[in-house]
Amino acid sequence: MTTFSAVTVLGAGVLGSQIAFQTATHGVPVTIYDINDDAVAAGRQRLDAIVEQYVADVGEDHRAAATDAAAGIAFATDLAAAVAHAGLVIEAVPERVDLKREVYQQLAAVAPEKTVFATNSSTLLPSAIADATGRPDRFLALHFANHIWRQNTAEVMGTEQTDPAVYERVAAFAEEIGMVPIRVRKEQPGYVLNSLLVPLLDAASQLVARGVADPETVDTTWRIGTGAPVGPFQIFDIVGLRTAHAIASASPDEGAQAWAAYLQSEYLDKGKYGVESGEGFYRYR
Ligand code: NAD
Repeated sequence: MTTFSAVTVLGAGVLGSQIAFQTATHGVPVTIYDINDDAVAAGRQRLDAIVEQYVADVGEDHRAAATDAAAGIAFATDLAAAVAHAGLVIEAVPERVDLKREVYQQLAAVAPEKTVFATNSSTLLPSAIADATGRPDRFLALHFANHIWRQNTAEVMGTEQTDPAVYERVAAFAEEIGMVPIRVRKEQPGYVLNSLLVPLLDAASQLVARGVADPETVDTTWRIGTGAPVGPFQIFDIVGLRTAHAIASASPDEGAQAWAAYLQSEYLDKGKYGVESGEGFYRYR
């Protein structure tokens, strides 16, 4: 028996489908809500792909259980029906504060009183949304990473209004579904991981943009100097160079703009997107 006997995930996208799968593989009944039949169909396809990726990672022995878990996930396009039995709703809708606030207002009107709400937002602070939930004491962030079963951190971050008992229940639930709960004690943009990672990647990109060292040299230095298994440019390749470019080009900083232009001309224009395209700073088979 897990802390929450039923979970509903809002959004069948990249992360929502992974969160649903991870939860379902740990025996918790899951429903995914999305806005229309096309989004649901896309979500079902994502689940099929997730099963294949998961089996490739953990072994054929796990295929039957993974297939059963994915098949047991219910889909819904009616919000009230989707959340009627949910102890926990995990929201993974697009990263726009206005959209998220609207979704929480609709959710608050139909969800049972006891239901806890968690946002998977990567960049928004939960306090930017809390009042729209109508239950700020039962609302917090629960942030998963892409490739959820392998990069299995779940950053738990409340607002000043989050009930500490709710916080602990959500952290316990994260552990029950195979995650390592990361207790973030105060609101922090980027949680713990990105608070560390973003400055590292920024510093690495500036070393290359300013001609101080090439990517291989930076990575070699980081790996030998710290014992880390990968360097910052290997991480860039995993994150994807389109994402790296989008983040750099959105920054007003001159160095970031120069880095964005460099990524565009040397990588994106040449179809080099990182691991996903087979080549980025490195080549992949
Ligand atoms: P995505 O675009 O892949 O999926 C979003 C899904 O939400 C789509 O299926 C869309 O149809 C659905 N949707 C749109 N409006 C909706 C509504 N009103 N109600 C319910 N569903 C709705 O997005 P994603 O990459 O899965 O990101 C979702 C959230 O997860 C964002 O907050 C993002 O910051 C966070 N996140 C993403 C990643 C990542 O690597 N992609 C990692 C961690 C956290």
